[in-house]
Amino acid sequence: MSHVPQPSEPLSPADAASPGAHPRSQLLNQATTESYRSAVVDGVGRVADRIRRVERAFSGIQPGELEPEIAAVDLERPLGDATAALDELEEVYLRDAVYFHHPRYLAHLNCPVVIPAVVGEAVLSAVNSSLDTWDQSGGGTFIERRLIAWTAGRIGFDGRADGIFTSGGTQSNLQALQMARDEACHRVREESGAPLRNAEILPRLRILASECGHFSIAKSAALLGLGQEAVIAVECDVDMRMNPKALAAELARCDSAGLVPIAVVATAGTTDFGSIDPLPAVADLCERWGVWMHVDAAYGCGLLVSRDRGLLDAIERADSVTVDFHKSFFQPVSSSAVLVRDRAMLRHVTFHADYLNPAHSTERSIPNQVDKSIQTTRRFDALKLWLTLRVMGAEGIGELFDEVISRADEVWHALTADRRFTVVTRPQLSTLVFRYEPRNGASAAEVDRANLYARDLLSTEAGAVVAATVVRGRHYLKFTLLNPETSMSDVLHVLDLIAEYAEKYLADATGRQPAPW
Ligand SMILES: *Cc1c(COP(=O)(O)O)cnc(C)c1O
Repeated sequence: MSHVPQPSEPLSPADAASPGAHPRSQLLNQATTESYRSAVVDGVGRVADRIRRVERAFSGIQPGELEPEIAAVDLERPLGDATAALDELEEVYLRDAVYFHHPRYLAHLNCPVVIPAVVGEAVLSAVNSSLDTWDQSGGGTFIERRLIAWTAGRIGFDGRADGIFTSGGTQSNLQALQMARDEACHRVREESGAPLRNAEILPRLRILASECGHFSIAKSAALLGLGQEAVIAVECDVDMRMNPKALAAELARCDSAGLVPIAVVATAGTTDFGSIDPLPAVADLCERWGVWMHVDAAYGCGLLVSRDRGLLDAIERADSVTVDFHKSFFQPVSSSAVLVRDRAMLRHVTFHADYLNPAHSTERSIPNQVDKSIQTTRRFDALKLWLTLRVMGAEGIGELFDEVISRADEVWHALTADRRFTVVTRPQLSTLVFRYEPRNGASAAEVDRANLYARDLLSTEAGAVVAATVVRGRHYLKFTLLNPETSMSDVLHVLDLIAEYAEKYLADATGRQPAPW
């Protein structure tokens, strides 16, 4: 065993000149627990002070102002101690970070985080378990397994289910579609009775997802060697939900064209609209055509613990499900999982290495999570959800999600009653896509620009952050409500600002006066 310097030992002259800089003093071990404790407390203290004081979700700084400040840091000249580095960090990061905990952060699918999960994050990175093998994680493996079983239970899967934590919905979707692809290739070979090469099968494979589905589906198709053209965009109805008649027609068309649908992806909570595809109808069609059903519940998974659980009915008929705990379970990034109804499907990601998880182990069966994952070294993200459930329980998380769903409905009522705005759909979850739309004859393109201008000004002038998207070729603004602390008055204030900025833009751009309301 190597010698570990104890704090009581005299420092060498070189160390005395710059005590904190001794590289070995920076290793977390038996001898350094006090400096670990104080450095972490210092870091946590900075964040706590910042969060207490922060008055805006975003400072509004421009990339051109911030980039040179970060470029000016000399990475070849270390500061020697954590206090100095944290002082610097206040300037280059904390001052201008985007604060999701702030009630006027209304933009993307980023949630404020719950304290037990943040404690979990601190614990898991310090212990630094790697969840690929039992011999790198110990109990972490079983904590993760319990949480997968718990999630499977919430979905309504039976004891054959399994799954794995991943880095995010993108990876969860990729792994689900990889398993679906390999299952389809296997079936095509069996049915043809010929030893077909992959190159002969892949061009025939298709993935069906609604036109409102997430772009990670197309990315997965590309990564899986199918090409993004392999994704068939199934038409949505006016509520931005997959139209089952259109899905039926596409499945029949694939069949008559000799194409092989490897999966239908139903989205339970689209990123823009929070709309939930009709899961029972999709499940019926998948059953009828013998196609793998994947449910992308990256956003909608919060319904698993909500009073609105019924919105996910038929999710238990899926072959695979993506859940993003870092979206609607108030967990810090990253925390996601992919689940399968039949654990046998995970064999498609099982590969062996003699040094890690030998195929023919001489020992009794060893629980190695790497057998179920497309990652190797892997974070113990499950610990955050574990501590969250142990502190506040599933119902506590559900209550928070229910609150933002209710708030979104209230905002929808306010928007539909407000003649300054049009809103696209009534939310099932917690997003609203809307735009300032004056009735004074401004062209649609001018209104596009006015909305985008209002969004920019909102961030730079008022420190509130909203998102933007495009619907039927026109620019819209988007609220994603995930913070129960966001009040109606926060939202109404932001709407007034948007209207004010957009009116100002139109008045400057066109010389027209805004309509008198
Ligand atoms: C966010 C999202 C994803 C991607 O998840 P990441 O965690 O960002 O990788 C996939 N699908 C849907 C519907 C999403 O909203």
